[in-house]
Amino acid sequence: MTLSFDPDRLTLPQGHFIGGRFRPVADGLPLRRPSDGAGFADCPVAGADLVDEAVTAAAQALVRSGWGTARPRERVNALHRWADLIEAEAETLARLEAVASTRPVAQVPGVDVAVTAEQIRFFAEFADREGGALVPTGADSLGLVMSEPYGVVGAITPWNFPLSMAGWKLGPALAAGNAVVLKPSEMTPFATLHMAELSVRAGMPAGLVNVVLGDGPTTGTALTGHPGIAKVSFTGSTGAGQAIMANIARTGVKPMTLELGGKSPQIVFADADLAAAADAIAGSILYNAGQACVAGSRVIVAAEVAAQLADLLVARMATIRPGPTWDATTVYSPIISERQIGRIDGIVAAARAGGATCRIGGARLDRPGYFYAPTLLTDLPADSPALLDEIFGPVLTLQTFGDEDEALRLADHPTYGLAAGLFTRDLSRALRVTQKLQAGTVWVNRYGRSRDHILPTGGYKQSGIGKDLGREAYLSNRKQKSVLIRV
Ligand code: NAD
Repeated sequence: MTLSFDPDRLTLPQGHFIGGRFRPVADGLPLRRPSDGAGFADCPVAGADLVDEAVTAAAQALVRSGWGTARPRERVNALHRWADLIEAEAETLARLEAVASTRPVAQVPGVDVAVTAEQIRFFAEFADREGGALVPTGADSLGLVMSEPYGVVGAITPWNFPLSMAGWKLGPALAAGNAVVLKPSEMTPFATLHMAELSVRAGMPAGLVNVVLGDGPTTGTALTGHPGIAKVSFTGSTGAGQAIMANIARTGVKPMTLELGGKSPQIVFADADLAAAADAIAGSILYNAGQACVAGSRVIVAAEVAAQLADLLVARMATIRPGPTWDATTVYSPIISERQIGRIDGIVAAARAGGATCRIGGARLDRPGYFYAPTLLTDLPADSPALLDEIFGPVLTLQTFGDEDEALRLADHPTYGLAAGLFTRDLSRALRVTQKLQAGTVWVNRYGRSRDHILPTGGYKQSGIGKDLGREAYLSNRKQKSVLIRV
């Protein structure tokens, strides 16, 4: 059976999901489909009253169900049932994801859904394995470190991988014994809503997973500043991360995990397997049309092989298959919005006006919706916005270096430090450069996320605070209590 579908005939979940049921709302922010630009739905905007209702429902669900205090294997089993149901509903989730977002429907079941289910199972297994500790103290006392859930976690996710990002937040928070109020991006709420509903159908307590819809300034601000939210977990832009930090500081003090923007370099040394490097680099910027936080958008290549690498990249960037996300043959994604495609085009135009050469692309594709051609820019001045700003589109810049120090200097971005890649056959150089790169993730002779969920992900510099994935993400959803008992 094909996954292709008619976007006009898809039934969408309606309203917020609070206390285990949908709360339909008549109108909200008008939504347009990236694939054809057609208006197709509204996203309601929860104000402070509805956010408060969701936080209260979450707190009550914790008390009623004993989710965070009962035998942890019960949590493990419930989360496994939820993961099973998410996989069983892969086709429905794929269509709900594809209609509003940039994710081609054929990619969602095997990537977004499969990885989300796998990560929920991965985090579930920490629940009855990670605990506190008995620590060495004097013989007259017994020292314990107890580990406890925070309570209600407030989570906020972006539009670029809506399901996966929701999974990153929900998996560790729930496994660690918390309840969650999640605000997905106002542009892509539908698959997240369905996933939340599946938690109840899987037998998890109603109210444990709540989804409030709305924009950042209204709903996001009410959520992060709510006194009942014990911890904030955010993925999105660095600017919104700053606004959240300010709001938290204004309304109190609470821990937060921030997964923010990036402008990641990929360094190619002269001894690298150039064809393999070109595959990895092109793959990373074409996937989701470059709308990935870790997109390796800055190519930094040894001068003597630069022309060869550029030719290989152009050849790969010329072979795309754009199409609506609801067509199962589509591989190349649209850009999320008219505003964002205008922003990409503006940065590319400014780069060209500043003297850059455009080796391929550099314009919007002539078709309905918001599609941008894969673009390779060379000969850029050092202060070009194309080198400094996170473009979040299918745009690669290419700079050349003479020696290793220069490569590292170019790689070092003044504010971002999310990920980096390097390609070389020299093991010593690979390790030396890896140690010097200021990035939260370094990929060597490959680029992009794998399904090794044990590797934590998170940024250096202004790319973030704390980690998603890995043992670190589980532990960051629990707080520690030190206990000393006189013996
Ligand atoms: P965005 O920051 O505009 O929005 C992200 C989410 O935050 C949305 O749900 C939005 O409604 C909400 N938001 C915005 N302002 C807010 C505020 N003041 N208070 C509370 N919530 C607020 O980002 P986006 O355009 O949706 O996503 C793209 C960005 O996300 C890029 O910068 C990308 O690098 C980043 N991202 C990072 C990672 C990572 O793991 N580091 C992963 C995916 C995306």
